[in-house]
Amino acid sequence: MAYPTGNIMAGKRGLVMGVANDKSIAWGIAEQLAAQGAELAFTYQGEALEKRMRPLAESVGSNIILECDVTNDEAMDKTFAELEAKWGKIDFLVHAIAFSDKNELKGSFVENTSRDNFLKSMDVSVYSWVAVAKRASKLMTDGGSMITLSYLGAERTIPSYNVMGVAKAALEASTRYIARDLGPSGIRVNAISAGPMRTLALAGIKGGRDLVGTGREWSLLKEDTTMEGIAGCALWLLSDLGASTTAEVVHVDAGFHAVGVPESAASAE
Ligand code: NAD
Repeated sequence: MAYPTGNIMAGKRGLVMGVANDKSIAWGIAEQLAAQGAELAFTYQGEALEKRMRPLAESVGSNIILECDVTNDEAMDKTFAELEAKWGKIDFLVHAIAFSDKNELKGSFVENTSRDNFLKSMDVSVYSWVAVAKRASKLMTDGGSMITLSYLGAERTIPSYNVMGVAKAALEASTRYIARDLGPSGIRVNAISAGPMRTLALAGIKGGRDLVGTGREWSLLKEDTTMEGIAGCALWLLSDLGASTTAEVVHVDAGFHAVGVPESAASAE
């Protein structure tokens, strides 16, 4: 994808967590940040994903590519210790990580949600944000900015989204509390609530791919959300352009979140 180039991120270094492949939202954000001069480090979840993501990371000049499963405290400690050893400090963090058992991302929320998967979804998709924000903040010695990725299912019911909607609601609340604690250190903490994108994560939601076209039909802009739009918002929030904005959930969804009843459902006469 062609992202606007420039120097908005020149001199800034940060960590991008959550690239699985070239469709990942984290990758779109990384490409945009690199195109504006940022120096990037990456983490990946496990060996199976390394093969896909390593060449991507190298293509934007990264030589800090670390394995980090966010369910493992030691792996997180090691990641941030290595970052500190290499760079000393960082300026920004991208958290684009979520997981839930796809057998529970369909049908009835109340019938299908198990204790195990409820806890696992909250652990990977929410607690990891708190855990990496804590560690990243220690390296943001000159202030900084961090973002996570949310979805409208936090605020409204979405078919099949189920326990992930509950997790995203907790993620957005966590964003505000993290922002409260880190504000005095000059660290801004925000979430982007993105419209549906064709990624591995979306493929795990029953009917998830059908959500993509709903933007064209029902959003205010009558179009699907673009990676350029999400990456542009990330650039704003992670750069000095985002000064004074914290504890915010910014919707990048072509205005879909503002629609109560779609035009097509009511007669204009
Ligand atoms: P993706 O599948 O490309 O990315 C999800 C990432 O989470 C992967 O890189 C995966 O390795 C990582 N992950 C999962 N479990 C992990 C663990 N235990 N340790 C470390 N990493 C782990 O899909 P995506 O759509 O780019 O998802 C990124 C974020 O964006 C997620 O939080 C997702 O909920 C959110 N989001 C996605 C959409 C969408 O429509 N795709 C919309 C709004 C928000």
